[in-house]
Amino acid sequence: MHILVSNDDGYNARGLEVLVEALRDLAEITVVAPEVNHSGASNSLTLSRPLSVRHAPNGFMYVNGTPSDCVHVALTGLLDRRPDLVVSGINNGANMGDDTLYSGTVAAAAEGYLFGIPSIAFSLVERGWGHLDAAVAFARQLVAHQLSQPLQVTSLLNVNFPNLPENEIKGMRTTRLGKRHPSQPVIRSATPYGETVYWIGPAGDARDATQGTDFDAITQGYVSVTPLRLDLTHHDHIAQVSNWIGPLCS
Ligand code: MN
Repeated sequence: MHILVSNDDGYNARGLEVLVEALRDLAEITVVAPEVNHSGASNSLTLSRPLSVRHAPNGFMYVNGTPSDCVHVALTGLLDRRPDLVVSGINNGANMGDDTLYSGTVAAAAEGYLFGIPSIAFSLVERGWGHLDAAVAFARQLVAHQLSQPLQVTSLLNVNFPNLPENEIKGMRTTRLGKRHPSQPVIRSATPYGETVYWIGPAGDARDATQGTDFDAITQGYVSVTPLRLDLTHHDHIAQVSNWIGPLCS
């Protein structure tokens, strides 16, 4: 068995290092991760310049590009055989609800999924690695389960861990994505030269955190496991849009 591991926090991130250590006895592990933090990179690929792949002393490879670049380059150029699983994380912070659209952690896993490989994104919901050891224990369980009894469908799983000690985590729940309120306003600041600059504000609070959502599972103390799909087509709108453009089609 062979697992490709990436993340969006960068190859030096603790969540990546600890996850890789925990998975070592389950499979051969190859790490290809961004050189620097690319949280919020979404599925971006670098097309304006070539990418360098360098080797860290611990055996990790790092790329001066995005999470999607890392997995893409690994699958199309670096690995001599296809991995059985692509894993991303463990991210420093939640990737729930609408976060998943912006997330570089989810994007790295999504890149594996686009190549037809089962993929899992892991995130610890609070920043600061509070109970990373508990998150890693559950991540290891899920990976071991996928390797020994693979899902019958090729899946992209978005997994979030509550920031709790292992004995306080109640178990795992399969969830749907919740929804967030719009982001909070930008934060204005000034450069030493007097130019006004803007920081993107924090994500909004949960708007749909009802039963069955990832937000609800986390609040209740469960690990949240959401199967994702990448088909953006709004199938329910096809008929209406077709009618609407009808007059323009003659
Ligand atoms: Mn991140």
